[in-house]
Amino acid sequence: MYDEDDLLPLSALQHLMFCRRRAALVHLEHVWDENVATVEGHHLHDSAHDAGTESRGDVRIARGLMLRSLRHGLSGKTDVVEFHLLAAGEPEASGVVLPGVSGRWRPYPVEYKRGRKRREHSYEVQLCAQALCLEEMLGVAVPEGALYYGKSGRRQVVNLDEQLRRTTEMAAVRLHELFRDRVTPRADHHRNKCRQCSLVGLCLPERTGKSLSVEAYLVRASRDSGPGHSGDRRVNGEDDR
Ligand code: SF4
Repeated sequence: MYDEDDLLPLSALQHLMFCRRRAALVHLEHVWDENVATVEGHHLHDSAHDAGTESRGDVRIARGLMLRSLRHGLSGKTDVVEFHLLAAGEPEASGVVLPGVSGRWRPYPVEYKRGRKRREHSYEVQLCAQALCLEEMLGVAVPEGALYYGKSGRRQVVNLDEQLRRTTEMAAVRLHELFRDRVTPRADHHRNKCRQCSLVGLCLPERTGKSLSVEAYLVRASRDSGPGHSGDRRVNGEDDR
């Protein structure tokens, strides 16, 4: 169990799953580089948080709920938690009582992301961490949630199975280790990820990466300083991390 003072941001799990160096740059060194995609992402989250609560048939929608887990040492704010009315015959213990309405309701977290619907493991881990918080706070199982993609306006349903839960729990442990050790890892040359990363211009993975041979360094240095190289930072329109 962790103390209140030890809680780390839920959102950092997403960075950690994407790249440990990115998590350290954002949360230990407080480096952040905005691009169009990250700004759009902030607007999407702000609008998700702003709208308060509402009802749609057998679904109650709460926005911007504060979550925490002392077991996993995490805290943060949700975009949306839906509460689905239990169907007749479902065990009462699988739902919670909500103020002012009858019946019992199952929590169902929904995390907003920009871009088009796709499978993204780091997002699923962040969503699962929200579910773990809800389970600890409300005392009911949260077997499923969803990622909502703003660009395509579509949901990806996420089954919060045992494997995803173990991955999420291990990610929380690794996040606490990162904050305890306070050492920013070197870049790992995972080039596909770097191309999607808004921090690429500040991280400089080609210069700060592991096991870059002298020969490779000289080739890159001469290429980068050659005619036609602008030195501009790359930004990626799909990045919302
Ligand atoms: S540029 Fe690459 S190595 Fe650097 S933080 Fe982003 S993903 Fe990680």
